[in-house]
Amino acid sequence: MRITCPLCGDRDRREFYYYGDAVYADRPAEDAAFETWDDYLHLRDNPAGETRDLWYHELGCSAWIEVTRNTVTHEVLSTRLLTDRAGGGGATPGKSAAKGKERAK
Ligand SMILES: [Zn+2]
Repeated sequence: MRITCPLCGDRDRREFYYYGDAVYADRPAEDAAFETWDDYLHLRDNPAGETRDLWYHELGCSAWIEVTRNTVTHEVLSTRLLTDRAGGGGATPGKSAAKGKERAK
């Protein structure tokens, strides 16, 4: 599979780290209801068709990228920087993980 990084261009998917569903970029507010956090952390759709995923260009520019692809045909439909999403994309997964580690100390 080939992924087009918006900064680096067309690359082999092995240059990227797959993070998961793009919903991870839509982190709820810290004081959100338990059900909202439960949905964010545990409930995922598993569609046959179009999905949005987060990929990290680990062996390239270190950008977080939202990839829209079709799970049936394996076609990559579009890519964009996470920071180009409406509202700026919220917290990147790496930053969220770092915050969690800081709190655990
Ligand atoms: Zn890149």
